[in-house]
Amino acid sequence: ARRRKRSAHEYIAKIAAGDRYVLSQAITLVESDSPRHKNLADEIVSGCLKIPQHNTMRIGITGTPGVGKSTFIDNFGLHLVDKGYKIAVLAVDPTSQHTKGSILGDKTRMEKLSRSDNAYIRPSPAGDSLGGVTRKTRESIILCEACKFDIIIVETVGVGQSETAVHGMVDFFLLLLLANSGDELQGIKRGIMEMADAIAINKADGENKAASEFAATRFQSSLDLFPQQYKWRPQVTTCSALTNSGIDNIWHIIEEHKELMRRHNFFHHKRHLQEKKWLHNLIVQKLKDDFYQHDKIKDILPDMERKVCDGNLLVTTAAKKLVDLHKTN
Ligand code: GDP
Repeated sequence: ARRRKRSAHEYIAKIAAGDRYVLSQAITLVESDSPRHKNLADEIVSGCLKIPQHNTMRIGITGTPGVGKSTFIDNFGLHLVDKGYKIAVLAVDPTSQHTKGSILGDKTRMEKLSRSDNAYIRPSPAGDSLGGVTRKTRESIILCEACKFDIIIVETVGVGQSETAVHGMVDFFLLLLLANSGDELQGIKRGIMEMADAIAINKADGENKAASEFAATRFQSSLDLFPQQYKWRPQVTTCSALTNSGIDNIWHIIEEHKELMRRHNFFHHKRHLQEKKWLHNLIVQKLKDDFYQHDKIKDILPDMERKVCDGNLLVTTAAKKLVDLHKTN
């Protein structure tokens, strides 16, 4: 017999009661690209947004593959679980769009944390655009918070635009680096460095310890040259995800940041700015979906494309015609 379909109301009630199984199913709906699931997913997210917020913390963690993100989150997450928090780990991995195996996805990651009853780990959603993937992650954050998770960790690989997206959805942004990653930093990583609320030089153990501490001093001097945001001086520290050293200090830095943000009323200010951006992203996304799913547009678009390519129609004229057609229908 076919299982009776759960209503949005039932989903919301079960999520609010901390049911992780239903949380997972709801996230699957949110991640689905099928229009069939869209309305139900929207209703669930809207319902979860109405659940009064408890005191949650969203932490973004980024770093290139191999820097030690999963090892770090495994131990960091357990550390927080020991402190009594419920932890959800979500991933944004834009590479999973192109290759079947995502960088963050397949191998068994965060083995210890995944066995904890107070942790929930969700691999990266697939999607045809970074925009799609980030929408799914944003909505999943809302669902996890409604499910009473206190700390949401959003992990991303430091290889593209996804850092900016993740930075736009978290309260604290942590960058993991290695002592000998100096060269690449001059170029591509500068923008990411500017977003960091803290940098941790990972693998500061064994023979690497001294070099890591030296690198930390160096990075601290570079960070001190950037303009401060929200009166916060970004901190550079060292840690070893493997031996678990320095992990507690990183949590301490995050708490200090939160304290400062709350004291100056920046905490909610920042979230409100992020929400405003999210609103605009949603508007654009909805208009776009609406446009491309429109029957008339679908009919006429291939022809217009052909005419533009053949030089029989100006691209600007084609765009205007299509948008006008959409508006009047
Ligand atoms: P990710 O790709 O960023 O998630 O990196 P992983 O967590 O998978 O780590 C990559 C490799 O580095 C693994 O072999 C880890 O055991 C190792 N590793 C991670 N953290 C540390 C650390 O603090 N010290 C040392 N020596 N090795 C580490």
